[in-house]
Amino acid sequence: MVDFKLSSEQEALRQLARDFSRNEIRPVARHHDETGEFPHATLKKAWELGLMNTHIPESCGGLGLGTFDGCLIAEENGWGCTGIATAMEANTLAEVPVIVAGTEAQKKKYLGRMTEAPLFCAYGLTEPDAGSDVAGMRTRAVRQGDKYILNGEKMWITNASVANWYFVVAKTDPNGGHKGMTAFIVDRDSPGIEVSQKLWNMGQRASDTRGIKFTDVEVPVENRLGDEGFGFKIAMTAFDKTRPLVASSAVGLARAAFDYAVDYARERKTFGVPLHNHQAIAFMIADMAKDIEAARLLVWLSGWTIDQGARNTKVAAMAKCFGADIAHRIASDAVQVFGGNGFNTEYPVEKLLRDSKIFQIYEGTSQIQRVIIAKEIFSR
Ligand SMILES: Cc1cc2nc3c(=O)[nH]c(=O)nc-3n(C[C@H](O)[C@H](O)[C@H](O)COP(=O)(O)OP(=O)(O)OC[C@H]3O[C@@H](n4cnc5c(N)ncnc54)[C@H](O)[C@@H]3O)c2cc1C
Repeated sequence: MVDFKLSSEQEALRQLARDFSRNEIRPVARHHDETGEFPHATLKKAWELGLMNTHIPESCGGLGLGTFDGCLIAEENGWGCTGIATAMEANTLAEVPVIVAGTEAQKKKYLGRMTEAPLFCAYGLTEPDAGSDVAGMRTRAVRQGDKYILNGEKMWITNASVANWYFVVAKTDPNGGHKGMTAFIVDRDSPGIEVSQKLWNMGQRASDTRGIKFTDVEVPVENRLGDEGFGFKIAMTAFDKTRPLVASSAVGLARAAFDYAVDYARERKTFGVPLHNHQAIAFMIADMAKDIEAARLLVWLSGWTIDQGARNTKVAAMAKCFGADIAHRIASDAVQVFGGNGFNTEYPVEKLLRDSKIFQIYEGTSQIQRVIIAKEIFSR
């Protein structure tokens, strides 16, 4: 039996997120895009309303919501501003490895504090020379008695400057390939951590992306997540829960571009008629509507599947890949519908086009999602 109807609790959650996005995120989106200022005040309000960290278990003081419910919020956030949405989702990305692999003590300590104050955390996997090729990472963790000594460099880490703690993957066995990596929780205030200047990106400028350098950072053994050698597995398992959220945020951006394009196509006249009377424009908008619905179905399926306790790796990669690709194309088509105005910063769609590109890159590029889908098809 298939049922696409949300429960009354889910409808209420979505409405809360929708109102928050319209009233709190949208009005400040342009300011944060122009200045690159981190949206502290907006995120504090989101935290107070319970729209952040929603999946933290009840045993740690959280709401214990599933990935599906998180997707409902992520789409609304993405509609408002994906830069601000990414700052919110980055917490989830760092928290999920602790949820899936942490001990009760680690969960209480590091997830518990996220429910007590509006704090941030960050997910540290990528390095200057190791993005898609995770096994190429060089950061080393060497055990010395009851601690590990961490040395290395991470790159492109969202929330790096505001985080209270980091999820970090490092090599404990440099010759062990994927099985030579181990995951840690690293306190931000540990001596030996240096965070770079904010990286000024093409879009999503409300989000804070930086490099992190670790020089002889001491990490207590009790901060190791899981056993030695399981870092890669933990990092990838987290993506099964977070890729549906990222895809949902992309659907939100696509919806925003669609809304703007529809309004403009009604108002703007050429050759004596509204733009939507020209079939070339009407079909572009019809394709937008079709692909938004299809992407949302993949998002919902991938979120629902993991919430049932079933493996969703293939459909999560499909949702992320399809959501990212259609968001970028729809944002570009919205610029086309606006004509010259679309290229101008006085109008909202050029920001959407800039913001949309990163969906095809972070949390695994669109090429890597296709690698995962193909591997799932041919190896199972
Ligand atoms: C704004 C932003 C925020 C980010 N946030 C985080 C974060 O919070 N934490 C974190 O750990 N990382 C983060 N990242 C890093 C991001 O996940 C990586 O940039 C991404 O995985 C790609 O890695 P790369 O940049 O090294 O590109 P590369 O791996 O060098 O890839 C370059 C190109 O080659 C393609 N390619 C590579 N290998 C293959 C292959 N086998 N088959 C086909 N094509 C291939 C890629 O798809 C891409 O098009 C962020 C990046 C950005 C830009």
